[in-house]
Amino acid sequence: MARDPVCGMIVDRRGGHALVHAGRTYYFCGDYCAKAFVSAPERYLANAVADVGLPERPARTIAYLSMEIGVDPRLATYAGGLGALAGDTLRSFADLGVPVVGVGLLFREGYFCQHLDSNGVQTESPERWEPGPELARLPLQVEVSIAGRPVRVAGWEYEIVGISGQRVPLVLLDTDLLDNALEDRRLTARLYGGDAAYRLSQEIVLGIGGLRMLRALGHTRLRRFHLNEGHASLLALELLREANVGNDPGAWTFEAVREQCVFTTHTPIPAGHDQFPHELVRAVLTEPVPAGLLEMLGGAPRLNMTLLALNLSRYVNGVAKRHGVVSQEMFPAYPIGAITNGVHSRSWTCAAFRALFDRHIPGWAGDPFSLRHAISIPRDEVRAAHALAKAELLAELARRGHDRFGRNVLTIGFARRATPYKRADLVFEDPDRLVAIARQAGPIQLVFAGKAHPHDQGGREIIRRIVAAGARLRDDIAVAYLEDYGIELARLLTAGVDLWLNTPQPPLEASGTSGMKAAHNGIPSLSIPDGWWVEGLIEGVTGWAIGDGTASSHDANDLYHKLHQVIVPMYYQEPERWLDVMRQTIALNASFFNSHRMVQQYVTLAYT
Ligand SMILES: *Cc1c(COP(=O)(O)O)cnc(C)c1O
Repeated sequence: MARDPVCGMIVDRRGGHALVHAGRTYYFCGDYCAKAFVSAPERYLANAVADVGLPERPARTIAYLSMEIGVDPRLATYAGGLGALAGDTLRSFADLGVPVVGVGLLFREGYFCQHLDSNGVQTESPERWEPGPELARLPLQVEVSIAGRPVRVAGWEYEIVGISGQRVPLVLLDTDLLDNALEDRRLTARLYGGDAAYRLSQEIVLGIGGLRMLRALGHTRLRRFHLNEGHASLLALELLREANVGNDPGAWTFEAVREQCVFTTHTPIPAGHDQFPHELVRAVLTEPVPAGLLEMLGGAPRLNMTLLALNLSRYVNGVAKRHGVVSQEMFPAYPIGAITNGVHSRSWTCAAFRALFDRHIPGWAGDPFSLRHAISIPRDEVRAAHALAKAELLAELARRGHDRFGRNVLTIGFARRATPYKRADLVFEDPDRLVAIARQAGPIQLVFAGKAHPHDQGGREIIRRIVAAGARLRDDIAVAYLEDYGIELARLLTAGVDLWLNTPQPPLEASGTSGMKAAHNGIPSLSIPDGWWVEGLIEGVTGWAIGDGTASSHDANDLYHKLHQVIVPMYYQEPERWLDVMRQTIALNASFFNSHRMVQQYVTLAYT
């Protein structure tokens, strides 16, 4: 490609309108411009020179940093929802042509592989994988100082290709280099593994190493840095050091850094924010930092990474409207907005529904707002597409030894991190009542999945309780807990079940995104109105509420009541109405809770 020096249009070099002038070749859109050029070349030469060698890749103006990024099932660089969100965000940036470069870590042992025995006892093993041809090793390294040691940081590039060919590079940082001390080589081994010093070291690699890597790669024109959760906050510290000289913070400028940083917080409780005792920080973060600066920006006696980012960001947001309000109450001194999460439509819509949308709503993947038109898709076609998705899930269940699942039985899905506040076992609070529903209103079956963090005893216990409940109920209700939840299993589950269940303890669900994935496949949610569901719920139209979203509501009771009186009867006795709910779920919720809408809000509210 070349630029026509007369009119400025981009022209194909093979197009035929080329002229040699003073030993150089110029390309034109047609005869008109070629003639204009010949009549007065000196008028146009300046334009031509300025455009010599159009950059293959546009200048990046936004850097997006995240500790976990789930963008490709081959890369074990994510643990759960935060990573899936980061991957979806980068994909939408690519589809929409937003000039972004992503930065994360290359975890060579991933998060962990989950194994469950017949009692639901979880054991873990490393996720072994090797960077393959999808990753290109970058030809340079940078250095950070950790615990007084120089640590070399290398990078790998993964390219995300958007729907019209636009590319977003993702740089994954890696300390597994022969030059590094053995313990430093393991700094990028495990996501959310190790102790506080290990975590802080990883955050140094991500934030400080990340910025140095970006600069070394020639990203000098970055205008905004998007810190996805507080794990990346140290980038702002490094920007401060770039912008200032001397050791007297009294003479430093902060505004120039604040102008560049955007911060998204993801947790609604203070205990969820990363905090490190300053004693540990002084031992581990051995980059030169003026005394007292970190206390001033990140609080004391512990360095709070959320506070650090709040103090150095121009725009801060929560990930759903309710979470924005909760975060604002937690940090009243800072203006905190809300940009509700979304999921990448093309990635989370199963093959059967992709084909259906292609037929009825051409162009939907690049313009997911147009999914509103799903309301007019004939019910029979929705039924047929869903039957295909359900058959795929049942085949996977059978492959894993769960062969008692029926095609015509209402299938309830629940899959997300196993941790106490998510209350995956709430549906088993009164097993006799659940059996009564199945006997009186119609049969049900339940599929679960989700990893518990190795140190999360409460989460591990929940898995055991669900497996035990399944064994007890086996004569009446089929229950499966699938091992090793990840993005691929999430795709199968959020398309193949009939109802997506979500029972978090309010107000602890910041957003939640799996229900949005389900909505893209016409699966309604039955959920506590917390996080995104406060916005997505239209009772009886896009799904159903459990309780009123307050901490004191009788959630289990309400869950049974809704199943018994409303949902199971509708599924079996009013299939047409059920199909209407499916169409409405797509039309009202997939058209909004997608990452294209979310990214456009980031561009207009946060980046500009
Ligand atoms: C989408 C997703 C999640 C997030 O689920 P929530 O309902 O938001 O908790 C977690 N893990 C994986 C693998 C996912 O794909």
